[in-house]
Amino acid sequence: MLLPTTIAGSLPKPAWLAPPKQLWAPWLLEGSLLEEGKRDAVRLAVADQERAGIDIVTDGEQTRRHFVTTFIESLEGVDFQHRKTVRIRNRYDADVPVVTGPIARRRPVFAEDAAFLRSLTRRRIKYTLPGPMTAVDTLYDAHYGSREKLAWAFAEVLNEEARAIEAAGVDVIQFDEPAFNVYFDEVRDWGIAALERAAQGLGCRTAVHICYGYGIKANNDWKKSLGDEWRQYEKTFPLLARSRIGQVSLECANSHVPLELIGLLDGKDVMVGAIDVASDRVETPDEVAATVRAALKYVRQDRLLPCTNCGMVPLSRDIARGKLAALAEGTARVRVEL
Ligand code: ZN
Repeated sequence: MLLPTTIAGSLPKPAWLAPPKQLWAPWLLEGSLLEEGKRDAVRLAVADQERAGIDIVTDGEQTRRHFVTTFIESLEGVDFQHRKTVRIRNRYDADVPVVTGPIARRRPVFAEDAAFLRSLTRRRIKYTLPGPMTAVDTLYDAHYGSREKLAWAFAEVLNEEARAIEAAGVDVIQFDEPAFNVYFDEVRDWGIAALERAAQGLGCRTAVHICYGYGIKANNDWKKSLGDEWRQYEKTFPLLARSRIGQVSLECANSHVPLELIGLLDGKDVMVGAIDVASDRVETPDEVAATVRAALKYVRQDRLLPCTNCGMVPLSRDIARGKLAALAEGTARVRVEL
């Protein structure tokens, strides 16, 4: 089918599992109740996507408190009890885990969750992991003393995890690299290479999600400072076009990204952000269709995947469901024109 729809990754969690509308929200359940609650939340996330008509579904990241730190905290060499406050993405302060020694993955982190997701749906499924650079940018390093060295260490453990997730029957593994829109010299010098190391040897489709962040105030203020034309992707897309990563995402809806930058991704599948996650206003299907049609001027129809701009975890569930439906309906309107 042309124009398969998908989401960046996360959906809001049920209010009985975690307090709504916040990042790093604490769990409201414990022990076996928490494990059961997470699985029930995944069931709901899948049901919401299927009902809306999303084609490539995720677990809504219902089993993790945060898309980066939950993975980091599962590793050896990390202290997550004594967290440190650091500035992440050059924008806002967060309490993050501390790397105190060589990192190692002693057990699978998300492989069981991925197998559970596989058991819930016949649709294609996508699983998300943090990319190496974004992982490095979401912790305090008290051991390696080099972002590049630490990124290579992360690339290795992420590759181990990605292989385990692939074995669970996942169709797409997506690495989230919002840091790629901030640290351009590092992206060029080692970011892309570390990302490829994380994806090495995978037989499934691989993807990278690069965005302007969740719809939180620090990100919205940053976007206001970027001027009328957001050309951040211009530096990274030519490098990604030469990489072995199969799919690349970009923000389109309500962004100031010049759509012609899509042309820099020749040969790649392009996840086109047609849903703004920084607004509570639900897009109309016509607005989604207009975004997809505009993107089709720069990417072949068999390479375009309509998507959300970023994760939806900070939104309310009603609004997120409305946006899922708009994404599917708007895309369906364009599909019949092709
Ligand atoms: Zn994002």
